[in-house]
Amino acid sequence: MRHLNQSISFLRRGATTPRVLLAVFATVLASLAFAPLVDSVDAAPSTPDDAIAKLMDGNKRFVKRKAAAQKIEIDGAELAAGQAPFAAIIRCADSRVAPEICFDQPLGRLFVCAVAGNVTTVEGIASLEYGVAVLGTKLIVVMGHSQCGAVSAAIEHRGDTSVLPGSLPQLIDQIVSPCALSVDPADPEALSKAIECNANIGVSELLKRSTVIKDAVDSGKLKVIAGVQDLASGVFSITRR
Ligand SMILES: [Zn+2]
Repeated sequence: MRHLNQSISFLRRGATTPRVLLAVFATVLASLAFAPLVDSVDAAPSTPDDAIAKLMDGNKRFVKRKAAAQKIEIDGAELAAGQAPFAAIIRCADSRVAPEICFDQPLGRLFVCAVAGNVTTVEGIASLEYGVAVLGTKLIVVMGHSQCGAVSAAIEHRGDTSVLPGSLPQLIDQIVSPCALSVDPADPEALSKAIECNANIGVSELLKRSTVIKDAVDSGKLKVIAGVQDLASGVFSITRR
């Protein structure tokens, strides 16, 4: 709303030529047009279901290329003073996946952990536990994406991951046994099926391996869901909730 305030004070100073007035009114109209979107981004969700709705609304804005989060003026001092992210996300390290952009959220709203193949490592689980227990996060999303290279590698090397370099076998093995072995590599849908499986398995792993997360879910303070973002359309679809 800074533009609106600047325009009003400009008017008060007596800028009255037609060209100036036209420019001022155009600025005022532009400010009003953005106001509802910014306000809807700004409201903090109070329940896990509200948090899901907020993310999905943001994804709709992103898909329509009507993102609003970047229009919010960032107060650096307020941002540095603390964080209260409403959602935590474990996502693939893939450069095409960015939750803040995909869900159209400003800094300070999403607690994001990244690892190739969005697998649930112990470090990732500990990070999510911090989000839930200390920061009061209301939602955890295990976020897969189309054309995931980690899942593709798991299918391709499902018979023997030891041919992969470095530490990759340890990572890819976590996708092989639950998901890559459950699909038929000849199936044209094999990759998308394994990607969905891998995201959904992440929910089971979090509930099984973290009492902090499980207890928060059981008490109704937290929901853990999974979903897949289609890179071409940008659409995020919930696959497990
Ligand atoms: Zn990936």
